[in-house]
Amino acid sequence: MHVIQIPLRFSNAYLVIDQQAILVDTGSPNESDTIMRAITNAGITPNDISLLVHTHGHIDHAGSTAELRRRIGIPTAIHHADAPNLLSGTNGIVKPRNLEARLVAAMLVKPFEAVKADIVFTEELSLHAYGINGQIIFTPGHTKGSISLLLGNGEAIVGDVMMGGWLGGTIRPHQPNYHYFVDDWADVHHSINRLLTHAPTRWYVGHGGPLAYAQVARHFVDIIDK
Ligand SMILES: [Zn+2]
Ligand SMILES: [Zn+2]
Repeated sequence: MHVIQIPLRFSNAYLVIDQQAILVDTGSPNESDTIMRAITNAGITPNDISLLVHTHGHIDHAGSTAELRRRIGIPTAIHHADAPNLLSGTNGIVKPRNLEARLVAAMLVKPFEAVKADIVFTEELSLHAYGINGQIIFTPGHTKGSISLLLGNGEAIVGDVMMGGWLGGTIRPHQPNYHYFVDDWADVHHSINRLLTHAPTRWYVGHGGPLAYAQVARHFVDIIDK
């Protein structure tokens, strides 16, 4: 099993390749060309992709979902609590945590092309049916429907539960940091704790990264449940 990071304009998408492949997130609008190229470069075809799963329903993670589904008809999944975002092409309520975050929100938070998900899940989901040794767990806080993927190789894809560095990961991308937008601080702290109990060796994030376990544990030491 291996994870391929697809760096996009403002965010990362990921390919997870095991028995089959899955795509995690689709970046911002008009990024389907870059994603199609990454699929080809990975030595696979769209037919090898069993699922497109969203870490959450924001424009920089679901922005090219509609155009990708037109090009390659892969089944599309999102957590129930973020499904309305995808269905309406909106970001829901975004809560910036500081001035820099407000500037990012003004630049980034716009409507995007709506699409109806094929799979709306409320429970945590095993990925074995999709040819991947891994599991989706519920990690809300950044949004109400944020999820993470725990993979059989000991790594994790955590979306925007946290981010790498500053300015969307352009500065010190491997330094763990809170994300710009936090819907619910208690949920974010709970989700980080939950992920830490699984001790993923490498944390793939929506912006910047990847992050090493030791760095994440050190950065968030003050909020770790005793
Ligand atoms: Zn987000
Ligand atoms: Zn994001």
